[in-house]
Amino acid sequence: MPPLTVDDLQFFLRTPGLLDHLLEQHIDDGGGYCKACPGPQSGRHRWPCQIRGIAEQAEKLRDTALQDNTG
Ligand SMILES: [Zn+2]
Repeated sequence: MPPLTVDDLQFFLRTPGLLDHLLEQHIDDGGGYCKACPGPQSGRHRWPCQIRGIAEQAEKLRDTALQDNTG
């Protein structure tokens, strides 16, 4: 899992609803695979997928940023 950069985070935060959309779409299909990712020909991507991981990182950073800005 590549670390999330500040540019990545700003991209997510500049696009209202994108982060929530990704977190809604990239979910476990019940069998350990991502519902949203098309995956390779032989099957779907394992879940949590890379996009899910990045979205979760962004969500944590967003929450942290919001808390830091309360002062
Ligand atoms: Zn996915």
